[in-house]
Amino acid sequence: MLEPLSFENRFTRELPGDPEATNFRRQVENACYSRVNPTPVAAPVLVAYAEEVAALLGLSPASCETAAFTSVFSGNQLLPGMDPFAMCYGGHQFGNWAGQLGDGRAIVLGEVVTQRGERWALQLKGAGPTPYSRGADGLAVLRSSVREFLCSEAMHHLGVPTTRALSLITTGESVMRDMFYDGNAGPEPGAIVCRVAPSFTRFGNFEILAARGDTDLLRRLVRYTIETDFPGLGTPSTGTILTWLREVCRRTAVMVAHWMRVGFVHGVMNTDNMSILGLTIDYGPYGWLENFDPGWTPNTTDAENRRYRFGAQPQIALWNLVKLANALYPLINAVEPLQEALEAYHVAFDEAWQQTVADKLGLRRFDPATDRELIDDLHAILQMTETDMTIFYRRLSDPRVTVDASDEHLLDALADAYYLPESLTPEIEAATLTWMRQYLARIAQDGEDDEVRRATMNRANPKYVLRNYLAQMAIDKAATGDATLIHELLDVLRHPYDEQPHREKYAVKRPEWARHRPGCSMLSCSS
Ligand code: AMP
Ligand code: MG
Repeated sequence: MLEPLSFENRFTRELPGDPEATNFRRQVENACYSRVNPTPVAAPVLVAYAEEVAALLGLSPASCETAAFTSVFSGNQLLPGMDPFAMCYGGHQFGNWAGQLGDGRAIVLGEVVTQRGERWALQLKGAGPTPYSRGADGLAVLRSSVREFLCSEAMHHLGVPTTRALSLITTGESVMRDMFYDGNAGPEPGAIVCRVAPSFTRFGNFEILAARGDTDLLRRLVRYTIETDFPGLGTPSTGTILTWLREVCRRTAVMVAHWMRVGFVHGVMNTDNMSILGLTIDYGPYGWLENFDPGWTPNTTDAENRRYRFGAQPQIALWNLVKLANALYPLINAVEPLQEALEAYHVAFDEAWQQTVADKLGLRRFDPATDRELIDDLHAILQMTETDMTIFYRRLSDPRVTVDASDEHLLDALADAYYLPESLTPEIEAATLTWMRQYLARIAQDGEDDEVRRATMNRANPKYVLRNYLAQMAIDKAATGDATLIHELLDVLRHPYDEQPHREKYAVKRPEWARHRPGCSMLSCSS
């Protein structure tokens, strides 16, 4: 039943691998990867799979429900043609060069080419140690795997570029984790997600080669990436490398503008977690904004400096691109062209962000003369009292929000967005109404038909996102062996922009019990 999977394995065919075949932790030089097999697991059980991702690979739902599928995607069995490997990469973590990192708990089983000619790498996360596991075990726990599985698919359906998730399988083994790094380690159920993307190459794959002065291999990897992952750009040359860097800047800008649109906080934007394809990758301690707070980060490891807070994501993406450009310097040997290429980030981010603001507010087009101030003022209003970002934007398209509405109706339309209704002072209400009147005047001047405007807004402002507490509830249930909420959320999040009247409960703001609960409001990197 898994026969449609036909492996091409270009990465291992065309790039040099590590000659050492034994699986022990080490520095790996002059190679882009090490061949390594997944570690077999005791009793794998399929918890969930995404049928849309299976379909991309040419697999039917029936084939996903076979024992062979569970066996293959838990790492217990290799299919003919697979050539498993872990990638070698480095990275800047929290602003500092960290040296070699690499796939410490991820193993690419092989790269498929489908009948449509699409390339997909199938990668297990949590399939046991690799040469890059450093001091860790190479495993993943159920809670982090549920979060990665659900969020990958939720992001895809929101229209955000992302790696995908094919399957979520428990291993039947337990894994020791110290969830908050406070000395209280305990056993947790182990799990494995199969991630799917055209390639898993990160900025760090180039950085490690530049850091080691391995210019020959750096050139080979850049050529390979341009030819394989960016086939439209032409034969690699100095000019093509710069065009490619501009394209990476553009894709990264578009990705981050989407994050800002939907209220997603990645949490660990280290350069080893930045996909060269501009895909959201490595779902760890990510979170979704509940109350609009640009200073918020879900990551406890980053609680002090908040380097990766929501509002900083656009600048951090550029910081990371500068590190990528630095890594390419040995191939260009001049600073100005690299700096010029990086300008593409500003241009692309501004364009994407202006379109995002126009869509979120339902304007035909962004007018810098008025709309910069309009959005800045809105951001200030949203922070005067805890205001749910998702609900607030969605309510701007409420039929009660019209030019001739009374103040009372306008405030009524927004009422559900507030976490602490008692904190709505007359001053906050007045400021909110002032903004609403400004906004309604802008809409009247824009002149778009109301129905068209509301439809545009409802395509940019999701009704359903993977709220932090919803993921946690699905995890808690799954830990008791009940995966129904995972299935339900996967299904709800397939249509995040649609009204789903029987599923209103998944669109409400975070309940008070979740305000300070681990997993709902704060997460560590072990998540
Ligand atoms: P992350 O912050 O999850 O992107 O991980 C940073 C680095 O640590 C990457 O090289 C990971 O492969 C590695 N890593 C994280 N968790 C583990 C683990 N449980 N076992 C081995 N390596 C890990
Ligand atoms: Mg990572």
